[in-house]
Amino acid sequence: MWTIFGQDHLLNRLEPSLKHRRQSHAYLLCGPPHVGKMALAINLSQAVNCLEGPGVPCGSCTQCARIAAGHHADISTLAPGQGEEGRSPKTVIGIDAIKEVIHRVSLNPFEGQFSVVIIDGAESMSDEAANALLKTLEEPPPNTMFLLLTADQEAILPTVRSRCQSMNLIPIPKNQMVERLKESHQATPEMADQLFRLSRGCLGWAIGALEDHQVLEQRQADLEKLQETLDAGLETRFTYANEVASLFGSDRDAAKDLLALWLRWWRDLLLIKEGAEEFLHNSDHAESLKSQASGLSTTEIVQFTNRLMQTLSNLDSNVSPRLAMEVLMLNLPIEAGQV
Ligand SMILES: [Zn+2]
Repeated sequence: MWTIFGQDHLLNRLEPSLKHRRQSHAYLLCGPPHVGKMALAINLSQAVNCLEGPGVPCGSCTQCARIAAGHHADISTLAPGQGEEGRSPKTVIGIDAIKEVIHRVSLNPFEGQFSVVIIDGAESMSDEAANALLKTLEEPPPNTMFLLLTADQEAILPTVRSRCQSMNLIPIPKNQMVERLKESHQATPEMADQLFRLSRGCLGWAIGALEDHQVLEQRQADLEKLQETLDAGLETRFTYANEVASLFGSDRDAAKDLLALWLRWWRDLLLIKEGAEEFLHNSDHAESLKSQASGLSTTEIVQFTNRLMQTLSNLDSNVSPRLAMEVLMLNLPIEAGQV
């Protein structure tokens, strides 16, 4: 059975081709973070290797179980590496990593029927790596499947993109997610409602937050720190910039999530300015948002929101995280703290 939920538009397309073993050798799975790209990639890896197949993965044979546990020798996953402490993070998937998986898929599968390469954060491939991959996508060895996962398909080389079948994963509508969280994950109605709002329809995030209470506690701590930074002078703001830069070195995704939290906060400030409070993402902090919005002009909010988006994009293009964060803090309106 498919464990991916809320993406029936894709499964309806995939099932007939999987059943007749006519699936594409390369798919580009696109969608926002935590929408379910990796869950679908794992399901697809199972579908082509399942002993009960071909078609919908059974989820319980040895092949399906080993793939779900991350133990299957024929499934390779690549992602941008984490930096070692004190060194700049590795934000690209380089040519060596790509060459290694290309070599692996040139051999026959070891334990299953198909070799699968999952490239998580495919937009992070260097041009050299993407071009090396392109050659293999043009003439793929038999019994291989490439799954490229990205939140930003425009950042993938068009030549690579054109060799893959695109699959767009979409956030789940509110009623579907709330029902799912209540039925399969024992969430209370209030909790399910809050998790829908915070996850913006991305089920993976919501389930993660239900299973690990630290996720919501961390959000609360991050929001408190955000407010402290807004209220503080330049020195504290720079200290914060350094903290985020070090986090970027040790856990790139966590640092990007943190900046995304900032972005949603600033979008909420804009919504208040526009009188659209019912759409607030952080509606549990409506009072703080309102008092802060009263000290800022719409132009200031828009400018800083743009600056945040630019910073997120710069961090993806290998600029120094410390410099990027310091520039961001220099652009934080002083008035933000004077409410
Ligand atoms: Zn199976």
